[in-house]
Amino acid sequence: CPLGPALLFAKTSQGREEGRRFYACSACRDRRDCNFFQWEDEKVSETRLAAREEYNRNQQPSFTHRQNVERYKNFVLLPLSKRRFCQECQQLLLPAEWEKHLDHQFLCDISTAQLKRPSQLLYPLENKKTNAQYLFADRSCQFLLDLIIDLGFRRVLSVGTPRLHEMIQSKASKGEDFRVRSLLLDIDFRYSQFYTEDEFCHYNMFNHYFFGGEAARETCQKFLYQDNGERVIMVADPPFGGLVEALASSFQKLMAMWKETEKEGHNSQEMPVFWIFPYFFESRILEFFPNFSMMDYQVDYDNHALYKHGKTGRRQSPVRIFTNLPPNIIVLPVEEGYRFCAICQRYVSSGNQHCEICNSCTSKDGRRWKHCVLCKKCVKPSWFHCNSCNCCALQNHACEKTDAGCFVCGKAGHKRSTCPSLSHT
Ligand code: SAH
Ligand code: ZN
Ligand code: ZN
Ligand code: ZN
Ligand code: ZN
Repeated sequence: CPLGPALLFAKTSQGREEGRRFYACSACRDRRDCNFFQWEDEKVSETRLAAREEYNRNQQPSFTHRQNVERYKNFVLLPLSKRRFCQECQQLLLPAEWEKHLDHQFLCDISTAQLKRPSQLLYPLENKKTNAQYLFADRSCQFLLDLIIDLGFRRVLSVGTPRLHEMIQSKASKGEDFRVRSLLLDIDFRYSQFYTEDEFCHYNMFNHYFFGGEAARETCQKFLYQDNGERVIMVADPPFGGLVEALASSFQKLMAMWKETEKEGHNSQEMPVFWIFPYFFESRILEFFPNFSMMDYQVDYDNHALYKHGKTGRRQSPVRIFTNLPPNIIVLPVEEGYRFCAICQRYVSSGNQHCEICNSCTSKDGRRWKHCVLCKKCVKPSWFHCNSCNCCALQNHACEKTDAGCFVCGKAGHKRSTCPSLSHT
């Protein structure tokens, strides 16, 4: 489909696979965004294949990345008064193109500072469920970058993290002593207007597809090659509705690319990764990456009403960092209430108490959890042990129904196997 190779899906009912398997778009879960559909065993005629290829070609952006880079070079040569950005087309305009956009809303006098912060110039994509863009709050972005630098990394593979990328790019262009570099991999092609082919690859993280073909793949491969002192870390912040297994498979492929660039002797090592995702996906992520651990740090977003820092009375963010680095080296800000647990050997939220029985700091959401002797584990503070269900649950739950909520999204009324956020249909 226009977004690269489709993925093979199966319908499940009560945890069991049902009916014929089929291919559908890797990234769009709404049929209205991409209606690619093909049964697994379907024979596709030559004519249909040709029509499909033609359609896919037509769906590609009107300018290539190369062209956009040229356009940018011309754009920055323009005096301020001639620098326009069309808000409707989300495009930098050259004077010859003004006429075509006269009845569109546009911004004038685009400054160099604005060009360095494209994530503020472009509106966050919200239309597609899977492509919702939630931008880091400045504080969280700065925290991530400081952490990365303190850990000794000099290269960041920014997968779906345009704001982290632009923070790095803009610092690098200002100070000579700032030696960090970043390569952005993202499906949002609008960014190709602001970055060269060495700084941005149009990439689909649900099927590990480089839209720019072999050349783009090589750019990424080259970037992952680390000389002494130029250690690489991958930071990914995928859309939360995304399929965990598809993401994990792509990340494994990126990690394999890193490994290929390694000299002999480093074979047992793994590319360091920060995978930013909500805490309720912990068990799903650990299924694919058993050596990852979840940090207590709450990642905050600018444009997400719910995912903002708790301290000011707003809701606490459920978004965390999952990493294959040893937890004890991930230092969380003490001034935000995080503290080091000497027994667990990691930083935890202020409310996260060490449970003597579990022998670990068990809270997942930052609130203080309580131990249930019958369940033999710590549970949310709002839960009580129910004797008829034989487990802990909310006090007003309906017994022996699916009240515990879905394992994946936490919502009541369905189980994990039928979770709408996982299944394509
Ligand atoms: N917090 C990040 C943005 C995360 S939003 C920041 O501030 O930098 C999710 C990002 O993933 C967006 O940039 C979006 O364009 C990108 N994205 C969404 N679907 C994608 C896909 N299939 N492949 C690659 N990137 C994708
Ligand atoms: Zn326009
Ligand atoms: Zn406990
Ligand atoms: Zn219990
Ligand atoms: Zn009950």
